[in-house]
Order: sequence, then structure tokens, then C-alpha cells
Amino acid sequence: MSEIKDILARNSFRFNKKFGQNFITDTNLLDAIVADAGITAEDTVLEIGPGAGTLTARLAAAAKKVIAYEIDENLRPVLAETLADHPSAEVVFKDVAKVTDEEIREKTGGRYKLVANLPYYITTPVIMRFIECDDKPQSITVMVQKEVGDRLVAKAGSAEYGAITAAVRLEGEARITRVVSRKMFYPVPNVDSCVVTVTMNDAYADADKAKVKKLIRAAFAMRRKTLANNLATSFGISKEDAAKAIEAAGFSATARGETLSADDFVRLSKFI
Ligand code: SAM
Repeated sequence: MSEIKDILARNSFRFNKKFGQNFITDTNLLDAIVADAGITAEDTVLEIGPGAGTLTARLAAAAKKVIAYEIDENLRPVLAETLADHPSAEVVFKDVAKVTDEEIREKTGGRYKLVANLPYYITTPVIMRFIECDDKPQSITVMVQKEVGDRLVAKAGSAEYGAITAAVRLEGEARITRVVSRKMFYPVPNVDSCVVTVTMNDAYADADKAKVKKLIRAAFAMRRKTLANNLATSFGISKEDAAKAIEAAGFSATARGETLSADDFVRLSKFI
């Protein structure tokens, strides 16, 4: 850690709060993330936010290739230094939100694992984007705030369960692989974190995913409303027709969206 602090100081680097810059200071944790992601010498890794390049260097040592998108140009000299011995790591200085799917396909060949200690302010949009894009990663391994991790693995009906839980479940299996104390980061954030791994599968390959996703979005649009009310609004149908479809699928007409699992949403999509 003191080595990284020295490199940052030598390059007059100043942390920029708006970019969610909390760097991992523990080398065992860095190795554990690479292990959780199951990186092998065959893999191409897409990393978001390499920061000082500590995780990037370890990923590069384990993988065939690493493409890392970093928004903060001030990290250029730092990354040049920390990744000097890792020519298989390519850093692109760009906001990941401005990177097109085509560019990712070109850079990765369309087959890649996503690994990131995500900046907290883009956690949900990044996860949703990579869960829903055409060229999905083979797996997603991300450090997120503990609260977000709890949401990703929540059971239907629990307070933590939400649209993102069901959307992720539609594409794969999310697991918290480790809970990480806030003390493992520099600067120290206000909350603890965890590593979540999503292993993609095609359990719902036959489902009409566009329809199921619309259903999920509708079901969680207004959490206090019943599913029938939410569906009526989003699908432009009467509340009676929505209730009939819900009952035909085997659920109570007064059910709330948050009680339905991904399985249930797929089932309901066949009746709406
Ligand atoms: N990977 C490093 C680590 O684990 O120590 C740094 C992780 S830090 C939580 C998040 C990193 O993402 C920072 O380097 C930050 O500058 C970068 N970042 C923030 N917003 C970004 C964006 N929109 N696109 C690409 N990188 C971004």
C-alpha cells in the first residue's frame, strides 16, 4: 500500500470524489477478486475504473488480455508506471458510459469477463447495461456497496428485492463471494462493500425477454401499488384485464410485484 501511496504522491495525484475513487489497499483482497472472477490465461477481461492499476496488474498477470476504461486522465502517469510490466493491459481513457457496444465488441472480440471495483455512482447502470447488452460478458465480478450486493442476491418478497434482482436473475446467478470492510479502501468510504459474481446462464433462453423485462419494470414502477394496477398503467390495459391475466398465471389478483420471482415473471409474461 505505501508503494501505491508513494506512486500517487510522486505523480501529484489528487483523489476526485465525484469519480467514486476508493482504491483497494489490500493485496490479498486483490488476489481474491481475481480468484473469485475465475480468470484464466485464456480470458479477456474488461475492467471499469482501473484507478491506480493494482487490480489491473493482477488481472493482466492472470489473463490473456485486459481492456480497462478509466475516466480520470490524471491517472495516466500513475497507470503508465504501475502497468509498465504488463503490456497485455490496455487502458483507454474514456467514460465507460460513452463506450459503445460495438467498441467493446471490437476490443474484446465479444468474449470477455467483466471485473471491476465499481465507482458507487454508476453501479446500477453499469450492471444493468452489461446484463442486458447483446454481447454479454461470460461473467460479472464486481465490488459494490454491501447494500447493493444484498439487493442483487435478494429473495423475492424481501425488502431488498427489486427490479434489478429480477433482471439479473433472468440472465444468471448472482452470489456474494465476500464481504469487504470499508477499511480495505483508501480513502476509507462510509460503508462496507462486497464482491458479487454473476455467472451467466441461459435458464430463460426461451422466454420473451423483452416482454419479461417490461413486466419487471412495470411491476416495480410504484412499489406501493398492486401488480394489477402497475400492469394496467404500463401496458395500457384495464385493471380487470390485468387482474385476469395475473390470476390465469396462478397468482392472486391483489399480489404485489415484489413477491414475484424471475420464474414467476416469465410465467406471467405468457398470460399478458
Ligand atoms: N480499480 C481501482 C481499485 O480497485 O483500487 C479503482 C476503483 S475506484 C472504486 C473506481 C475507479 O473508476 C476510479 O479510478 C475512477 O476514476 C473510475 N471511474 C469513475 N467513473 C468512471 C466512468 N464513468 N468510466 C470509467 N471509469 C470511471
